[in-house]
Amino acid sequence: MGNLTTTEMPSGETDIVPESMVVALIAAASEVRARAYVPYSHFAVGAALLAGDGQIYIGCNVENASYGLTICAERNAVARAVAAGQRIFTAVAVVTENGVTPCGACRQVLAEFNPQLLVVVADTAGNQQRYRLSELLPAAFGPKHLIETQA
Ligand SMILES: [Zn+2]
Repeated sequence: MGNLTTTEMPSGETDIVPESMVVALIAAASEVRARAYVPYSHFAVGAALLAGDGQIYIGCNVENASYGLTICAERNAVARAVAAGQRIFTAVAVVTENGVTPCGACRQVLAEFNPQLLVVVADTAGNQQRYRLSELLPAAFGPKHLIETQA
């Protein structure tokens, strides 16, 4: 596949995210990370989510004095994308200082839309790792489990 990254879509189709798009996603995530509101943890996160039509939706983490109300960058990006009418996602890039993977809550929210999502995590030094969401959240609970009970 050369420079292309292949992900399997929920339908079983194969979706290809061009390397140039991965680069663009990391750049967008890195840019929005600078706007993270993190007065308590000082752990800034930027996320960029790629929709099926090629649009990119960004999100940063937003903390709150009531700590439990903090929203992660990834879920922020998902909410923005869904509010814009998107339901199909093919990749997400997450940029942090040390290149960590999304938290459990974000894995679950991302899996709602594409359990095979390409997840690219990058650090501020430019190192990156790639996963499929199914690797990060194996045997996930999802929409199909509810639908199966409605017969
Ligand atoms: Zn999270």
